[in-house]
Amino acid sequence: MPTHTTNADLFARAQRVIPGGVSSPVRAFGSVGGTPYFVARAEGPHVWDVEGRRLVDVVQSYGAIIAGHAHPAIVEAVAAAAADGTSYGAPTEREVLLAEEIRTRVPACERVRLVSSGTEATMSAIRLVRGATGRDRLVKFAGNYHGHSDGLLADAGSAVALIEADPSDPTAVPGSAGVPRGAVADTVVVPYNRVPELDDTVACVIVEPVAANMGLVPPAPGFLAGLRAECDRVGALLVFDEVITGFRLGRGGAQGRYGVTPDLSCFGKVIGGGLNVGAFGGRADLMDQMAPLGPVYQAGTLSGNPLATAAGLAALDLLDDAAYTRLEATARRLGEGLAGALGAAGLDVVVPVEGPLLGIHLAADPAVDYDTARTTDTATYARLFHALLDRGIALAPGPYEILFPGLAHDDATVDEVLAAAGDAARAVAE
Ligand code: PLP
Repeated sequence: MPTHTTNADLFARAQRVIPGGVSSPVRAFGSVGGTPYFVARAEGPHVWDVEGRRLVDVVQSYGAIIAGHAHPAIVEAVAAAAADGTSYGAPTEREVLLAEEIRTRVPACERVRLVSSGTEATMSAIRLVRGATGRDRLVKFAGNYHGHSDGLLADAGSAVALIEADPSDPTAVPGSAGVPRGAVADTVVVPYNRVPELDDTVACVIVEPVAANMGLVPPAPGFLAGLRAECDRVGALLVFDEVITGFRLGRGGAQGRYGVTPDLSCFGKVIGGGLNVGAFGGRADLMDQMAPLGPVYQAGTLSGNPLATAAGLAALDLLDDAAYTRLEATARRLGEGLAGALGAAGLDVVVPVEGPLLGIHLAADPAVDYDTARTTDTATYARLFHALLDRGIALAPGPYEILFPGLAHDDATVDEVLAAAGDAARAVAE
């Protein structure tokens, strides 16, 4: 990689040719201010920017990376696949293997369709539930993010709402210009962690089984089971968006962990090993309503891509029971350490940890829904973010993103993060 440049130079050039200088908004540092670092390369728990600075990375591509950057097994699998061609427009054995692997770990996925992103997975799942039920309305939870398709972009957590909702108007408001009101007219947004009362016009309830786009908000006891029962009562389908939780929260994702079975599940991130992938799956009778068997259309030139499926299979191969035990232990140690370090400096902080996931909520009381999640002190987060970055630790540049400790974050790396966190928090609290 050429490194005869600086972050500032590249950002200036980027802004002249790419809107805001970035390919996805949060990367522009809008919530925290300052100049983004441009990554030159990454390995294990670290990224190096174009100026040669090494950072301990707890962003890990927002959860797409679980085994650390440039894991040799994944690099090798991708290289071998690339040598055989990068896309064919015809089915391959690896798609079958990846779908089989998903079904083995998540038995509710009797059939799986591969796509190219989490957004595509949820968008296609919503089309399928509407096609299968003949109903249009969908219920989502405030603060849950399901990608950027029109009908789901309302009160979408870490996707900063560019249009403010009118509190006196109960219908969903598009979170972005360019989303017609009609596109969210059948979207009903309700508070997380409360089971809504449904009626027989509802096609589905879609939920992040652990909310991870408004900081980390675990499901209250009984919440997911309550959703299952309420959906069954009115004949609506339950869709788990496991784009973050899938294959990270444990072998069987959130549904395996909490013992609640959805009708459809959406995946992304981990199952692509850091390449572009998504998937949705569920009961055979439902999934078989997809084209070419059924009337619900969905397609993709790069769906089931050879490189992405090779990377995904290699990543899943690393995720045995011991790996999940390690991930949880790392998150626990990091979570307890961060809570201690930030609290000792006098900051109000709650560090929720759920399995291998953790968040930083800068408030005195835990968040249980979007309203309480938004009590986090965003100005302090911005200062903490920069204080940590100055000390070589990269958090996500947004107060509603979570941390993604992975298999590459060993004890020494966690110690490095915690030492920096104590120091950073004292600087912020001054
Ligand atoms: N669903 C959830 C829960 C997510 O966190 C995300 C992305 O962060 C998505 C869906 C969209 O996935 P993608 O960014 O791959 O389109």
